[in-house]
Amino acid sequence: MTHSEKHRSHRIGWLRAAVLGANDGIVSTASLIIGFAAANAGLENILLAGVAGLVAGAMSMAAGEYVSVSSQSDTEHADIALEKRSLDEDYDSELAELADIYEARGLDAELAKQVAEGLMAHDALGAHVRDDIGIPDNNSAQPIQAAFFSAVTFSVGAALPLLIAYLGPPQQLILPVAAASLIFLALLGALAARAGGASMMKGALRVTFWGAFAMLLTAAVGQLFGVTA
Ligand SMILES: [Zn+2]
Repeated sequence: MTHSEKHRSHRIGWLRAAVLGANDGIVSTASLIIGFAAANAGLENILLAGVAGLVAGAMSMAAGEYVSVSSQSDTEHADIALEKRSLDEDYDSELAELADIYEARGLDAELAKQVAEGLMAHDALGAHVRDDIGIPDNNSAQPIQAAFFSAVTFSVGAALPLLIAYLGPPQQLILPVAAASLIFLALLGALAARAGGASMMKGALRVTFWGAFAMLLTAAVGQLFGVTA
């Protein structure tokens, strides 16, 4: 007998970030391109808008991610420092605190105390970081990596509709860009859902709906404010 049950939650973190970045890149760049095309802008301006959108979006994703992960990391460090200080100052009440946590999770009082003692003898700070603060092992936040990862995944997503606009027929950009982008979105949504063990159809439909909505909206705005439309 092998233990074949697969848990997927731990995989969702980076995958979710990657799919989110690529989704954002596809939706915002395709919408920009479609908006400019609907306003009857020339191909050069359409591509320029798309490239500017790619750079602006990638930078904004990176900055946003950096700030959010940094503040998470600051909070974690402050929590860990506080925990370390109370361990130095009052080991016994920290031991009692940990035992209470295990008791609340279902162990009887005697066993909870034994577990707390065993874990704290092995690695007191580690046990408190994990079970008192609630930071999983080896999972401290990495702002630079997170920022870089977001910028790259956004750029990859943004490059797809740009490439279609560049290669497609200049007079009829809207349909191929919209169609290809929605297909990419559906594939990404299905992939993310599959990796997370959820319904692929649901995942695909969800992102495709919001992507289509964004493109329709910018197409309408482009039409409305278009130069010669
Ligand atoms: Zn503690």
